[in-house]
Amino acid sequence: MNFVFLGPPGAGKGTLAKQASEKLKVPHISTGDLFREAIQKGTPLGKEVQSILSRGDLVPDGLTIQLVRERIDQEDCRNGFILDGFPRTIPQAEALQTFAPPTQVINFLLSEEEIIKRLSGRRSCPQCGAIYHIAFNPPRIDELCDSCSARLITRKDDTIEAIKNRLGVYNSQTVPLIAFYEKRGILSNIDASPSAVEVLESFLSLIQKLKKR
Ligand code: ADP
Ligand code: ZN
Repeated sequence: MNFVFLGPPGAGKGTLAKQASEKLKVPHISTGDLFREAIQKGTPLGKEVQSILSRGDLVPDGLTIQLVRERIDQEDCRNGFILDGFPRTIPQAEALQTFAPPTQVINFLLSEEEIIKRLSGRRSCPQCGAIYHIAFNPPRIDELCDSCSARLITRKDDTIEAIKNRLGVYNSQTVPLIAFYEKRGILSNIDASPSAVEVLESFLSLIQKLKKR
């Protein structure tokens, strides 16, 4: 199955997608991770998108679509994938229909108040990509990654200014995708407010139901 994870920043798409990808044995493709990796490596793409990401703006559609297309063309995506953070605009969704139409789109629901709480305490591992929260999901040792011991960082776009901008961008550019996929009959909603474990369970039971249809 080709999955798209849709929803506001901070809904926990990345955390869930990592776990679901292990369970379902399909790759997790996060455009945010791909861009951050390019920035860290200092590639031409990374240099081009660095300031865009730190402001919380969107990378131009052309660049983003090209990146995803190349990724999905790889062997490991033959049996499906989980797209996290793509598409984020109508032109991106239209492009995806032409080269890898999603089977199911999962729309994660979370209130704006909760989003801000989650994003403002988020810490990320620069080495393995693990995601933590200072209050809701702290690492065992302060500021260090549980799995690789690297020092955790606060993402540049997890400042209050950038968070507000990302929410504005989400509301104007990404929310229209809900209707886009609803119209195609492939959208399911999941409440993202419970713990990560519970959200994973709702996702897995949803898939079981879909398979039986
Ligand atoms: P979050 O879901 O927490 O906002 P992501 O890691 O998915 O974070 O994305 C981080 C940033 O990467 C976005 O704010 C944007 O600048 C860029 N980005 C990621 N996916 C896309 C996309 N599909 N189109 C344009 N820009 C993107
Ligand atoms: Zn780590």
